[in-house]
Amino acid sequence: MATPLGHSIVGYALARAAGVKSPLGLATAIGVAALPDVDVFLSYLAKGDPFALHREMITHKPVFPLLVGVATGLAGSLLRGGRPTRSDTLRPAALATMLVGSHIAMDPLPLPYDTMPPGSGSLWQGVATLAWNAVIDLAFYGALVMLVRGRGKRAGRRATVSGG
Ligand SMILES: [Zn+2]
Repeated sequence: MATPLGHSIVGYALARAAGVKSPLGLATAIGVAALPDVDVFLSYLAKGDPFALHREMITHKPVFPLLVGVATGLAGSLLRGGRPTRSDTLRPAALATMLVGSHIAMDPLPLPYDTMPPGSGSLWQGVATLAWNAVIDLAFYGALVMLVRGRGKRAGRRATVSGG
């Protein structure tokens, strides 16, 4: 299960790849990429235990990215008012679906996380587990993003050189 750091790295990279540049837009994208973990708060409210229902609610089901995408598309249309263009609706809907979908896809990846059950050890064991998992995320997703962005930049340079 990826940490908030892993979801943030991937959310930031996806938003940049989609052309988002404003700090508010990038911060929103990071928040949307982490949205499925809102079930920690919902679980705490419902059961008094943040992890009792974690990854058991709809927010971690494959349909959730589609629901968030549809809601985002509708919100984009309504906020735009008048006659929204297709890109007013589809572009934010697709990006939101991709951001939430990245979370759903990342959580089950078999990276070498410390899988100590939450709440089973001392506070320091919990902090050490979270820190280790963040290091795993930084190494894996950080390297992945740098690799993909590096390829994109090299391809852009080649196109510039051959194009003129
Ligand atoms: Zn999650």
